[in-house]
Amino acid sequence: MAMIDGLPPLREVIAAHGLSARKQLGQNFLLDLNLTAKIARSAGSLADCDVLEVGPGPGGLTRGLLAEGARRVVAVEKDARCLPALHQIAEAYPGRLVVLHGDALALDLMPHLNGPVRVVANLPYNVGTELLIRWLTPAEWPPFWLSLTLMFQKEVAERIVARPGSKAYGRLALLAQWRTQARVVMTLPPEAFTPAPTVHSAVVHLARRDAPLYPADEKVLARLSAAGFGQRRKMVRASLKGVAPDIEAKLIAAGIAPTARAEELSLEDFCRLARVVGAASG
Ligand code: SAM
Repeated sequence: MAMIDGLPPLREVIAAHGLSARKQLGQNFLLDLNLTAKIARSAGSLADCDVLEVGPGPGGLTRGLLAEGARRVVAVEKDARCLPALHQIAEAYPGRLVVLHGDALALDLMPHLNGPVRVVANLPYNVGTELLIRWLTPAEWPPFWLSLTLMFQKEVAERIVARPGSKAYGRLALLAQWRTQARVVMTLPPEAFTPAPTVHSAVVHLARRDAPLYPADEKVLARLSAAGFGQRRKMVRASLKGVAPDIEAKLIAAGIAPTARAEELSLEDFCRLARVVGAASG
């Protein structure tokens, strides 16, 4: 493995600090620094950005981000056992790594970040999906971040970038594609991780749009997609019945066949319908 910094190989770091992987923390580590540098490069230009890294673990991705020139990395880790290894990286990159100890779902990270910010993370899958939804639904748009580069279970990555008509197309695709340009930049086999998980993984890069792709009220859009994809086999005139009165007329006003199924509707269709429903409810 090529050296990307003067720090010890990650296997040695893990042995020296006794970082046996804990399942309950979703710990599947990336030990190949060439791979972590490649993930860092897929996040876009880092030189003028703070990078928020969630779940740095022993620091493989952190080292990739710093070696690739991130202005500053703010890394939040829940597992206190990882902190000494992370502090060692901070010493090797003076002033460029801030290590925070805590739960990324609970901490207020904003006081620690200076914009522009790119978020990069290899997180446990449940935490990753929860954070993704939070980052996509802030009180105000545009959000604090320019882009999100996140590792997911491959099946979740496919749901984020799915197109209408496909099995994977649903609420996550609508939400992500409405506000970002999302693409899969890399897929990884289980053996890329130590220990190997049971599933394949993929890195998704989401670049924020300055404004959502089509105008629509976020809450109305969320209600429509929850109802439509909650009963995806039903025609929309049935599945969307509870969302607004006279839904059939509203579907027709939005140019959508009432006999269509949610998975056949494009993001543009959903947004048009959200505007008709929103306008009718004042
Ligand atoms: N980034 C490292 C890598 O790529 O090798 C570690 C990845 S491992 C899949 C996930 C990391 O997230 C672990 O170090 C785990 O302790 C940490 N973690 C889990 N839940 C967390 C949370 N709620 N907040 C912050 N870190 C968390």
